[in-house]
Amino acid sequence: MIEVRDLSHSFKVGKKGSKNEIPVLKNISLTIKKGEIASIVGRSGSGKSTLLNLISGYISPTAGEIIIKETNVTSFNEKMWAMFRLDNFGFIFQSFQLIQSLTTFENVELPLTLKGISSTQRKKEVLELLESVGLHHHADHYPNELSGGQQQRVSIARALITKPSIILADEPTGSLDSETEKEILDLIKKLNEEQGITFFIITHDEEVAKISNHQFHLQDGVLTKGGAFIEV
Ligand code: ATP
Ligand code: MG
Repeated sequence: MIEVRDLSHSFKVGKKGSKNEIPVLKNISLTIKKGEIASIVGRSGSGKSTLLNLISGYISPTAGEIIIKETNVTSFNEKMWAMFRLDNFGFIFQSFQLIQSLTTFENVELPLTLKGISSTQRKKEVLELLESVGLHHHADHYPNELSGGQQQRVSIARALITKPSIILADEPTGSLDSETEKEILDLIKKLNEEQGITFFIITHDEEVAKISNHQFHLQDGVLTKGGAFIEV
């Protein structure tokens, strides 16, 4: 489903024109299979978010290839990436990234509006989904009227509404207490088991990584566990 081949990334830092380049990811090769929960575990600064940003096309790699659903996306331009993301990915973030001026219903509806789905169809799909993630009583609430766990449910619903085959999650439980964390991890497991959605979860927490079928460990930009050419 996702194949990363010999991927490297360096960031240019400092003033414009500076030649100071810092290598952040070095020769990463990994495969994530359809229907699995894969996690990248690593300490702060190890390059986890950079890898996620490469896989989702927000930055371009310095070297290597990315193949997603049999499509080589390495040289996609911005427009191709925007379409590809909307068709294939859902995103979940540590800080939820909900739009504060929109209600629960409107936040979840937004990706469907972007896809040009009719208002009647949007309403039907959003209400059904809110019910399935236990948020139907909070449809008219604004994000600041919800708990952290509820806000994360809204962002999961927003990620699910376009029926993506892959959900990319950067520290999805990083802002939650341990009980709420468990609820969100249970929801992820349920969605994976019942709907076969592939999850790619980034975490610094080995406990969170336990829900995954496949763990990759990243240390200073190098895969130390789970990579294609490394003994597991
Ligand atoms: P955290 O757990 O703190 O989120 P992370 O594993 O996600 O960390 P990254 O955000 O991928 O780490 O950063 C990896 C390295 O790349 C860090 O040393 C960081 O300073 C550097 N870095 C990240 N983004 C940029 C950027 N846009 N420009 C320059 N350096 C960057
Ligand atoms: Mg990060």
